[in-house]
Amino acid sequence: SIPLGYFGGVGGAARRGILVKGSTFLDTLTAVRTVVFDKTGTLTKGVFKVTRIVPKTGFEQAELLPLAAKAESLSNHPVAQSIRDAYGSTVEPSEVHDYEEIAGHGIRANVQGRQVVAGNDRLLHREGIAHDECQVDGTVVHIAVDGRYAGYIVISDEIKEDAARAVSQLKKLGVSKTVMLTGDSRAVAEEVARRLDLDDYVAELLPEHKVEALEKLMAKTASGGKAVFIGDGINDAPVIARADVGMAMGALGSDAAIETADVVIMTDAPSKVAEAIEIARKTRSIVL
Ligand code: ADP
Ligand code: MG
Repeated sequence: SIPLGYFGGVGGAARRGILVKGSTFLDTLTAVRTVVFDKTGTLTKGVFKVTRIVPKTGFEQAELLPLAAKAESLSNHPVAQSIRDAYGSTVEPSEVHDYEEIAGHGIRANVQGRQVVAGNDRLLHREGIAHDECQVDGTVVHIAVDGRYAGYIVISDEIKEDAARAVSQLKKLGVSKTVMLTGDSRAVAEEVARRLDLDDYVAELLPEHKVEALEKLMAKTASGGKAVFIGDGINDAPVIARADVGMAMGALGSDAAIETADVVIMTDAPSKVAEAIEIARKTRSIVL
């Protein structure tokens, strides 16, 4: 039988916006030694602002944003949303055909008869299109039109105010390793990791490689120690499923993530991970 105190723990957590899907996860949470965060939407707001638009010869600055926004009109990725917000106008469905999204890369679409590619270095490489190597402060979205490099758009995300607190609280609780996984560039990842004082990060990961990265971190966790992964579920539901305790940020998260997760955090505050561990420890001390 399940000790009564556990019901108090699950209920107490729920009142604080942390939905724990069963008392066994509270038990596991008491033994957490490694906490792995997804970057976009978890540690950062996932609301990017366009900060620069740089056209290449033969292209106008004024045409780059509409082209990109139209090509991105069917994507639900935060990068796409930010480009559409900067454009500001609505896109007619008839303007876009043959839309294709390539997870962890970007998109391809036919916009008013022109073949548009919008995405990161990896995508342009895959398409065999030479592009600028950018040393910029932010995430770069390269644009190519009919096989020609057209320029790039720089977008910048912001770190959540709560993220630094999340990391410092975990350290206070004796969590020995805090790590960030991201599909974004090394430059962006390094800056976020440095500002948040994370122990480590792994960048330029394809969505399918995040599971492997988590497994490596789990293998390195001291025996008996458990690992949490927390993400928003855009591309990372399989990672949430693989962790000892998989957490989804419910405020921004996808349905798949909420379904898969062992713990759903109802706000967008990553420090709720530390709070969940604290509640679990208190619950156990009452039960034992
Ligand atoms: P994260 O790991 O930070 O959550 P993702 O794996 O979802 O990021 O995406 C990784 C990278 O792939 C993004 O940083 C971006 O460069 C690129 N990307 C993904 N989707 C799109 C899109 N719709 N348009 C342009 N670029 C995209
Ligand atoms: Mg993500």
